[in-house]
Amino acid sequence: MYRIEDYVKEINRCIQCNFCLEHCPVYIEDGVESSVARGRLNLIQALLVEKTLVPSDRAGVLLNRCLLCTNCTQGCPSGIPVDDIVITARADLQKKYGLGKGKRFLLRQVVNRSNTTNLATWTLSIARRLNMVPDEFPEVASRSFEQRVPTNVKPTGEVRGRVGYFIGCATNYLYPEIGDAVIKVLTAKGYEVVIPANQHCCGIPALAHGELGAAQEAVSWNAELFAKLDVEAVITDCTSCGYMLKVKAAKTLDKDDPSQSKVAAVAEKVVEITEFITREGLWHDPTIVLGDSQETVKVDVDSAENNIDIADTAEKKLKVTYHVPCHRAWNSNLIQAPHKLVSMLPAVSLVEMSEPQRCCGAGGSFFVDHEELAESIRVRKLKDIQSTKADAVITQCPACRYYLRSGLEKKMPVLHPIELLANAIYPSVRA
Ligand code: SF4
Ligand code: SF4
Repeated sequence: MYRIEDYVKEINRCIQCNFCLEHCPVYIEDGVESSVARGRLNLIQALLVEKTLVPSDRAGVLLNRCLLCTNCTQGCPSGIPVDDIVITARADLQKKYGLGKGKRFLLRQVVNRSNTTNLATWTLSIARRLNMVPDEFPEVASRSFEQRVPTNVKPTGEVRGRVGYFIGCATNYLYPEIGDAVIKVLTAKGYEVVIPANQHCCGIPALAHGELGAAQEAVSWNAELFAKLDVEAVITDCTSCGYMLKVKAAKTLDKDDPSQSKVAAVAEKVVEITEFITREGLWHDPTIVLGDSQETVKVDVDSAENNIDIADTAEKKLKVTYHVPCHRAWNSNLIQAPHKLVSMLPAVSLVEMSEPQRCCGAGGSFFVDHEELAESIRVRKLKDIQSTKADAVITQCPACRYYLRSGLEKKMPVLHPIELLANAIYPSVRA
């Protein structure tokens, strides 16, 4: 569980080597020593371990100015789980620095999500009024993904396998077209897809705000739903949901919590969709007919943000660039999978930006509370994207999708890689 006493040894493993300086998007922008992992660890040690520092407003600001992007952790030679330690500090000091009553109430609505778009629409409208989301934030879909699909979707031909599908909040309410693509690809491959009703948020937004109780409820609820499924994998289309389900869920609960065995059983099966598809060798599958170079990969995505038809790419390959989500370390294949997936699409090519792994500044909902800082992080990313002259961006994180899309010029869609594949599969493939 996220208790400071469990992390004292890890804080002390910091060798003050400063390697984290070059990895921290916040430090790169503000150059403040306390913004970087080393500084944060020193601050947390003084506040919570040695108690030589009295919590102040300044300390609260510094603790909250962390994207929990894990870039420092990924580059730290001592392997210190900096994001876990920051979460622990936020949970400990939640009453002093955490969300106010109103925001906490709304977060609860998101985390213990209801299957109705009415409640989601209502929550979003209140959030807009409280200035919790920017004006350009996408509207809630008129029907959530859960409302659009049955709890069991079978392929039309032979059943080759059975998987569960964890629907993140973004796919459910904002980008149901990602869910459509996931179902289309899985069923084309011959998978029966089980989508348990009444799924809750994975809990990572609550955890990020130090709202441990809400995160624990979400973790236990979802573990209960998915552990009893007879499936070979639990698919997620969101890298942050995957990170939560695979790595953080067990840490969120007490070690002896009765849900731990179910959390572990689910975690073992969690796999991100592009990794699952490439792992399964879909591009060698003769029953899948992909568009050839004569075919337009028509990105005609029907959503508030990606309402763009780039059919004018008919005469050329669709050029995409890949933004690697920060929450990638839970699976070593997460970065390679979209590359492999694009390589199996003859009408699509991938052009690398110079720093594909650099954070975009979204940080879940970080961009809401730290508008200027997030914007300055995003500016670097947008320049890098624009320098590729790509037609579209692909990424597996919905927060990055929203935040990049809202900063890019109008004709640049941001897509999940699985949407590219779904667009390229002939609809009649297994009829
Ligand atoms: S890279 Fe790790 S060990 Fe080095 S200063 Fe940063 S947190 Fe400490
Ligand atoms: S998690 Fe990200 S923002 Fe926070 S200290 Fe580490 S690198 Fe910086």
